[in-house]
Amino acid sequence: MTVTMITGGTRGIGREVARQLAEVHGHRVLLGARDLRRGRAVAAGMRGRVEAVELDVTNPATIDALAARLDGLDVLVNNAGVQLDGEVPSTEPDWAAIGGTLEVNLLGPWRVTAAVVPLLRRSPHPRIVNVSSSSGLTRLVNESGDASYCVSKAGLNMLTKIWSVELPGVLVNAACPGWVQTDMGGPDAPRTLAEGVQGILWLATLPDDGPTGRFYRFGTQAMRHATAMAEAEVPY
Ligand code: NDP
Repeated sequence: MTVTMITGGTRGIGREVARQLAEVHGHRVLLGARDLRRGRAVAAGMRGRVEAVELDVTNPATIDALAARLDGLDVLVNNAGVQLDGEVPSTEPDWAAIGGTLEVNLLGPWRVTAAVVPLLRRSPHPRIVNVSSSSGLTRLVNESGDASYCVSKAGLNMLTKIWSVELPGVLVNAACPGWVQTDMGGPDAPRTLAEGVQGILWLATLPDDGPTGRFYRFGTQAMRHATAMAEAEVPY
């Protein structure tokens, strides 16, 4: 049975990815939660094999404790994320927001991935999905605001590339889910949760001859014109 770990599984995109991987794809899902009690309540509402695990991606102790007790891992979904900047110009920096964003969105996936690489190397079909954003594409920058969020996702895109080179045999890809109705995306977002998770699920369940080191954008427009998931690929 494929074992998948997802960070930030308590809400939004992470929660829906966890649910569908367990209920539709038959994975054994380790649902990462900062608050284990809340994680357990979320897991209890899902069918299939879902176990809540304590995981704060900014806390190396929880990461190392979890990695040490796992006996195998096939798929890692680095999903946990925050957006803290607001419209503050980057030249009037709010260092607390900047540090907090980079800790969760960039150093978080870096720490978690490094901790579980030995487990992924032992998997016959290892996959890493970095839940990124088109905000991390330099060619799309045309307005101020959300600077540390953009920097964090640009860094995550770079790590996607680096890991794809450093980890031959592991399929490592980044996905922008589009603008999705979650606590982060807000109620006006055009994409439903079900639409937002499609690309992430595709990358988490890739066949062995699937792509690696790529960035896919599953925004409304991209998906409208895409006849296949792979057509949503865009250059970094
Ligand atoms: P939500 O705000 O709805 O959920 C964020 C999740 O991340 C929660 O489960 C939260 O846990 C978790 N989290 C936050 N900080 C930490 C931490 N330190 N350690 C572990 N988990 C943490 O966001 P979305 O579901 O919308 O976003 C998921 C991902 O998708 C993010 O990486 C985001 O950047 C990306 N994305 C989202 C878009 C959108 O439109 N929604 C667009 C593009 C990308 P808790 O419940 O404990 O707070």
